[in-house]
Amino acid sequence: MLRCSPSTRLSTAVSRTSSLKIIAQRRSKSSHGSAAPSSASVSSFQAGHEVQSDAKELPSSRIDDKKVVLGWDTTTYSRYHHIWLRDHCRCPQCFHAHTKQRLVNTFEIPPEVKPIHVESKPEGLEVQWPSSHPHTSLYPWSWLRYNSYDPPMKRAEKPEKILWGSKILQSPPTITYEEAMASDDRGLFRWLSNVDKFGFCFISGVPPTPEATEELSRRIGFIRETQYGTFWDFTSNLAKGDTAYTTLALGAHTDTTYFTDPCGLQLFHLLEHTGGTGGATLLVDGFYVASILKELHPDAYELLSTVSVPTHAAGEADALFTPNTRNTPILRHEAGELTQVRFNNDDRSVLRDLQPDQVEPWYDALRTWYKLLTSPDSEYWVQLSPGTAVVVDNHRVLHGRSAFDGKRRMCGAYIGMDEYRSKLAVLSEKFAPDTVTQDTAATYTANGRSVWHPAL
Ligand SMILES: [Zn+2]
Repeated sequence: MLRCSPSTRLSTAVSRTSSLKIIAQRRSKSSHGSAAPSSASVSSFQAGHEVQSDAKELPSSRIDDKKVVLGWDTTTYSRYHHIWLRDHCRCPQCFHAHTKQRLVNTFEIPPEVKPIHVESKPEGLEVQWPSSHPHTSLYPWSWLRYNSYDPPMKRAEKPEKILWGSKILQSPPTITYEEAMASDDRGLFRWLSNVDKFGFCFISGVPPTPEATEELSRRIGFIRETQYGTFWDFTSNLAKGDTAYTTLALGAHTDTTYFTDPCGLQLFHLLEHTGGTGGATLLVDGFYVASILKELHPDAYELLSTVSVPTHAAGEADALFTPNTRNTPILRHEAGELTQVRFNNDDRSVLRDLQPDQVEPWYDALRTWYKLLTSPDSEYWVQLSPGTAVVVDNHRVLHGRSAFDGKRRMCGAYIGMDEYRSKLAVLSEKFAPDTVTQDTAATYTANGRSVWHPAL
């Protein structure tokens, strides 16, 4: 995408970030792991003597001083330290197939451990270890390739995130309540895949009751209880000391910025709005706005990515929340990749973790962020009605609402990021397994999950 003029750039409602694309390109430098990479021959090294067989399509293997060297083809090699291989043995004595926990005593492995024999077998690399009790390990090829660290190999790409602006209103991600609740979980997978891709998803046809909405929330995982309750159901009565409980307009923000770990998903459902108007829902893709900021104002992006923003929740006499971390910039990154937007200007505390010469540039950057955030190109306004719930990734998509009058009853829940990610991972195993999962599914499987699953 690159260098389009601001006006062109801003007119793109559904786009993908350059940063995500750059990451994808970097990951695709080396080829992806497969079950049986082609190779010329099976090599077997024993006591320094190479034994060749004529079997095809297997990687070569040999023992070095400190590492086992695998040749995937004539030009691509991976090296694995002996201690690493021994520690990662997943035979039934070394790894509990049911609990997926390590049994081998890492601290009893001699630091200088070295195989006495390695052999390329169709099902994987076989390694024999010296021991008073001889021990043989077998590592599947796809697992070895996936976990190659010397050099690092390309891993299966995560599903691409689709960044969006206001034009998402033409076809917002939506599933039906029936799909979401269907017992085969296929609709649930579609639902959570939409959240993963777009950062939000509507659920239509939900019975307009708190009971049905709570049941829907619990399809994803445990509800995260907070000072606002477990499953909340409220009107504008200031029952809690927060502007959410008023009729005031709320600008685009993320929730619980004052937690060490802000809530992951938020599901909410307008149950009733009578005797008044207003109260439209605002959604803004924080990753989209960040991508524009990064492209047009890289210095501002850098400041908002590095300056810690303290926050608090102090509206209730018996609660006083502040994050137990100073790693709370508005744009948070992991390994160079944007992973979290944390922004609620109303909950911001005293700004003190910055250099004197950063103060004016930081406020300039904040103003630029706010301008992009509130641009008509970014804002997706939708008038919700009873029966349509929405779930929002609170680490990515900001939400807000316009002022209203009359009686407006909302209900909803928070769901932890870990519970949501776990559910999506389990459904992905079932409906969209990666190559390592497919390849090792039949190996040491207990509980329907192989000991060689790539997440372990
Ligand atoms: Zn073992």
